[in-house]
Amino acid sequence: MAAQVIDGKQVAATLRAELKEQVAKLKQKGIVPGLGVILVGDDPASKSYITAKERACEDVGIYSDDNRLPASTSQEDLLALVKKMNTNPKINGILVQLPLPEGLDESEVLLAIDPAKDVDGFHPMNVGKMMVGEEAFLPCTPHGIIQLLLRSGVTIEGANVVIVGRSNIVGKPLANMLIQKNATGNATVTVCHTRTKNLAEHTRQADIVIAAAGRPNTITADMVRQGAVVIDVGVNRIEDATKKKGYRLVGDVDFEPVSEKASFITPVPGGVGPMTITMLLYNTVESAKRAVKV
Ligand code: NAP
Repeated sequence: MAAQVIDGKQVAATLRAELKEQVAKLKQKGIVPGLGVILVGDDPASKSYITAKERACEDVGIYSDDNRLPASTSQEDLLALVKKMNTNPKINGILVQLPLPEGLDESEVLLAIDPAKDVDGFHPMNVGKMMVGEEAFLPCTPHGIIQLLLRSGVTIEGANVVIVGRSNIVGKPLANMLIQKNATGNATVTVCHTRTKNLAEHTRQADIVIAAAGRPNTITADMVRQGAVVIDVGVNRIEDATKKKGYRLVGDVDFEPVSEKASFITPVPGGVGPMTITMLLYNTVESAKRAVKV
């Protein structure tokens, strides 16, 4: 039987409607959640991500303070802007779009963000708090994946989860969140990477396979057991002359054959992607609520 395709756009739309209501309630109290956005340089992919994030903010009623700086911006000027946002009460969240142009020190910039406004959840203070199970801003993609699973009726507690990929933005924080002793955790997690011996031996044992390798066809049908839940985080460009742009987007999972065996599967595009932006909005609203202790 073919898998049920998890519609990330639909789940994200439901969550955004909930956030819109919360923003409306905050506005009745005179509070408008604000996101400070910083884009340095003119990388086309970063520009389109930022535009999508700002549109999503507008959609739920979050004010965004847009700052587009030239690639020649100095580290000092960038840090000064972050510090100005740290003390601006209208700004509840700060988003510095990565990667920064060459010559700028990303980790110094991320460290300069006030952890109370770190809505990407990348500041070591938030990473540490998350690890020890304290309240923290959770990084958007892993948090979005967990929401996608729970809102699709997938049981995480007690599940054997295999994550393929150990990056700081997806694999590592996701593994950490899934092993927490709380309502969104309690899974048994294996994290695989390029040094893993016999990847398929691990993925075949999994109730939930999460692919975040950034390589097409990393997960094929023979690597997945019947009835497994398969989450595809990967976003890869494949040349396609039939498309106007000359390419199409695919994930890390060989979608059609795998969906014949899986019970649930996410598509690319339209799976994890819409959730990532939504969780950024979620963190910004949370930050506004925390600032006024609502
Ligand atoms: P990354 O930093 O490049 O990390 C990729 C990870 O996958 C590494 O840990 C690597 O292992 C592992 N890996 C690569 N090929 C493998 C293979 N054949 N077998 C086993 N492990 C393998 O990537 P990332 O930033 O985590 O992103 C992963 C993918 O998700 C990318 O396609 C990215 O575009 C996408 N993404 C999507 C969203 C979204 O919102 N939809 C958000 C973030 C990322 P090593 O550590 O050993 O090198």
